[in-house]
Amino acid sequence: MVDHWLKNSLNFCLPQACLLCGDTTSRQHPLALCDSCIAELPVLGETCQRCANPLEPQLERLGNYLKHSALLQTRQCGQCIRIQPYFDHSIAFFPYIAPFNNFIQAAKFKGKFATARMLGKLMAQQLSNSINMLDNRPDSLLPVPLHPSRQRERGYNQSLEIAMPISNELKIPIFTDLACRITATPPQTSLSLKERKQNLCDAFHIRGNVAEQHIAIIDDVMTSGATANALAMKLKQAGAKQVSVWCFSRAEPPS
Ligand SMILES: [Zn+2]
Ligand SMILES: [Zn+2]
Repeated sequence: MVDHWLKNSLNFCLPQACLLCGDTTSRQHPLALCDSCIAELPVLGETCQRCANPLEPQLERLGNYLKHSALLQTRQCGQCIRIQPYFDHSIAFFPYIAPFNNFIQAAKFKGKFATARMLGKLMAQQLSNSINMLDNRPDSLLPVPLHPSRQRERGYNQSLEIAMPISNELKIPIFTDLACRITATPPQTSLSLKERKQNLCDAFHIRGNVAEQHIAIIDDVMTSGATANALAMKLKQAGAKQVSVWCFSRAEPPS
């Protein structure tokens, strides 16, 4: 009993160690990182406005043709220009590399839902600084639903944990009952792009009223965009006016 009390008191009094280097001296951040680790965190460069795919590698390949490219005019990647996704706009904040991929893996597969909340806090901070976002506020947030069997197994939905601090900070309601996942799909990471799309066809069902609404889908990581696109398709079919995607991290799409 005394041990327990002492441990709790010490945890409260002692500065928290940085998750990456163990430093306890500098100011703490929502991700429990020290100032110098924060300064070295990898960032996403310019991204496609539609799907948040990094644009820089494509801009480099285009070279001299840059001035005439639709890519430059629309700030959309080649893939979105060829086949427009159902969602209208995406924001991602960090590349899916260390340390962010480790945070997401911990939030998803290691039961660390507190880490998911920290990712949400960090996203909320970034979003509240975004002028574009404030000009175009969604009516509600929709965390990507998990199939009930996976949610039971995991005990929580990491996308909902991420959405909560965003909802608190930006005062946008979360509607968890707006959509449900009706088919249990195998993990997307093991599949090719074509298989991902096939796999997600009819995975979601919209059961709330979304007519004329602007919905922001909240997810931890966007890879091919197939999950967000399948959900956005259903939202648009149900009458949603606009669908945005806000995700913590952007991974390289599979080829
Ligand atoms: Zn550190
Ligand atoms: Zn794109």
